[in-house]
Amino acid sequence: MSGYDVNKIRKDFPILQTQIYGKPLVYLDNAATTQKPQCVISAIDNYYTEINSNVHRGVHFLSEKATSVYESARETIRKYINAAVTREIIFVRGTTEAINLVANSYGNEKIRDGDEIIISTLEHHSNIVPWQMLCERKNAVLRIIPIYDEGELIFEEYEKLFNERTKFVSISHVSNSLGTINPVKQIIDEAHKHGVPVMIDGAQAVQHLTVDVKELNADFYAFSGHKLYGPTGIGVLYGKEKLLETMPPYQGGGDMIKNVSFEKTIYNDLPYKFEAGTPDISGAIGLAAAINYVTETGIDNIAKHEKEVLEYATGKMLQIDGMRIIGTAKEKSSVLSFLIGNIHPYDAGTILDRLGVAIRTGVHCTEPLMDRLGIPGTARASFAMYSTKEEVDLLVEGAEKARKMLS
Ligand code: PMP
Repeated sequence: MSGYDVNKIRKDFPILQTQIYGKPLVYLDNAATTQKPQCVISAIDNYYTEINSNVHRGVHFLSEKATSVYESARETIRKYINAAVTREIIFVRGTTEAINLVANSYGNEKIRDGDEIIISTLEHHSNIVPWQMLCERKNAVLRIIPIYDEGELIFEEYEKLFNERTKFVSISHVSNSLGTINPVKQIIDEAHKHGVPVMIDGAQAVQHLTVDVKELNADFYAFSGHKLYGPTGIGVLYGKEKLLETMPPYQGGGDMIKNVSFEKTIYNDLPYKFEAGTPDISGAIGLAAAINYVTETGIDNIAKHEKEVLEYATGKMLQIDGMRIIGTAKEKSSVLSFLIGNIHPYDAGTILDRLGVAIRTGVHCTEPLMDRLGIPGTARASFAMYSTKEEVDLLVEGAEKARKMLS
């Protein structure tokens, strides 16, 4: 692609220069977590070297500086997903915590005996279990959108799930196991026809696609920093202000209050009402640095590059005898899940590891999806902005070697 210099990008990621078992690292486990560019590492380093202090508390110079960089990180994130105001951007630990926050705060308040919550067969455990736990607490019912064998949601079945008891929908934007890009705009529009709010799990989307929460009209949108080239331990919950205003705090403690007395506590305004305790300040700063890096590279350029790599990889892998690609949705992002004949994915993954190729094997935290597909799991290669066709060649070589050794 003209203008997109993958080799230049790779130089920004120190870990990509590493050797594994004496071989260059081929890192194809990006759906689990992405590597970090030097600017993210430096932003965290600089924070601890020059700024470290607690936020929102001190009158002193460093505390004000820490507060200012922390809050400007929130603004960077607001812009990135096009939220209306920073009050709608809540820092959390990651997608998992964001979903738990909504299931507990919104769910405890609004879900009643016999109510129904819709999720899909494609969901990650973190978009299943918090809703199951809520259903247990409230005696509510989880309804599941089925999928076609290719890994696409059956939209007509989704439409049929709605009734007067339907109170919430929570769906992944992109499947971590199959790469399916769900039609989230239509999913949200359909739910809104019934007056039902929608949460989108964007853990696998924000690093690959333009996400505009206003255009999507999402009620809640969650993602993790570490899958977007940022640090672990930081993530974002976006929520529409008018919904967040009605929700009780998720956790109690410092920062989420205005006044405390033993008789009564007045909660803080948004977004602080949902940010109890000292936040991950360096994480927020690192995440903002990652977003700036992605924005400078251009999310559309990244998407185009990753599409080329995915298409190249799919074509090459299919030349291997007995190769089955799991997940062949028309709209697909950077994930290539596969099985070779009857070889267990773990064995294929182990052979690839010895060649320096890092992939993921197993159920990828989507056990119900694997059950639906009738498979024990998959081997999964997942691509990022720095993935190359040469790396794909090494993956294919390793997969072919595994086939020869284990068939
Ligand atoms: N949802 C999806 C689709 C994911 O891929 C992941 C991470 N594998 C999560 C949720 C959970 O993200 P985290 O572990 O960062 O909270």
